[in-house]
Amino acid sequence: MRFTPEKPPLTGETLESLTLRLKERGEPAFRAQQILDWVYKKRARSWDDMTNLSKALRAWLGETFDLLPASLVLGKQSNDVTDKLLLEMRDRSLIETVIIRAPQEGVGLEHSRKTICISTQVGCAMACAFCASGLEGLKRDLSAGEIVAQLLHVCYREDPQTVRAHRELASFDNIVVMGMGEPLANYDNLIRALTILNADWGLGFGARRITVSTSGLVPKILKLAEEPLGFRLAISLHGATDEVRERIMPVNKAFPLAKLLPAVRTFSERHGRMVTLEYILIEDVNDMIDQAGELRDIARDLHAHVNLIPYNTVQGLPWKRPSVTRQEKFADVLRAARIPVTLRREKGHDIDAACGQLRLKTEKDRQALLA
Ligand code: SF4
Repeated sequence: MRFTPEKPPLTGETLESLTLRLKERGEPAFRAQQILDWVYKKRARSWDDMTNLSKALRAWLGETFDLLPASLVLGKQSNDVTDKLLLEMRDRSLIETVIIRAPQEGVGLEHSRKTICISTQVGCAMACAFCASGLEGLKRDLSAGEIVAQLLHVCYREDPQTVRAHRELASFDNIVVMGMGEPLANYDNLIRALTILNADWGLGFGARRITVSTSGLVPKILKLAEEPLGFRLAISLHGATDEVRERIMPVNKAFPLAKLLPAVRTFSERHGRMVTLEYILIEDVNDMIDQAGELRDIARDLHAHVNLIPYNTVQGLPWKRPSVTRQEKFADVLRAARIPVTLRREKGHDIDAACGQLRLKTEKDRQALLA
């Protein structure tokens, strides 16, 4: 399940780890900052761009590190302004990174709220019944450098003219770790990547604008609560009773609601932040009014925000999206209790936006070509 690349990615190095590597080579301490500035602030795409480094040092860097461990295979834009990037890693694994633009009422598209959704694993072991990413199981964890590389690719795509990656990233409102994989199952790489993403010497993106989403790995939620950086937390709930949740999320067997909800409360008390409960509405599975009532009680108890997401159809899976009337009725139960609720409008249906679909389709096309 581990992939050991020929050379470690530079995007996985912290200022501290790079300083140590350079010190072993006899380089002064400021050199690491200079190199990271080239990657994150000046957006260098090759070692030769780093013109204030000696030729010998550039050659050593090229022999020692992979500058960017992912290449863009495909960028797809949907009608409703969702972009999906399909990236290929060095072992030819494919992952997805999504840019979601949510236009605000009364203002132009250029003032949309912008969110980046990143992946942390190739595939996923959690086997949620409704999800394309879990269909073929877990292939491997992404390294910290591969997680960070997704954000650099977003910057390159957003504005090829601008030269400072951290400025482009600052134009985004949020980063959500909600793409392919269970982020907390790849905990150490996740925290290292988010540290690089947050640091002044890295991409300088505020921790309060970064949300980690989990299917409910209780011990790791408690561990995350102890992290000093204070990221936001979202729980993929998708069922408001054990019976319904267990039907679609096997993780509920190990961590039923009686274990999960107290851990969420611990997190929110520790950080003084509102947690988000993600709830994909699936027809006749979890969109019944009694489930809405149970969800209302959970949200009220946790002072949580609820994000309702109408299901995106996945080829090969039997689940369906409820009608708009049913979606609204469900949301009304929460609204009536003054629970902060968002009923998400459809994003990216026409570009295989359901988590993992574009990757699965491309993998299948590739296999067909090789057959
Ligand atoms: S919903 Fe998330 S945790 Fe569940 S299988 Fe898909 S990627 Fe994994």
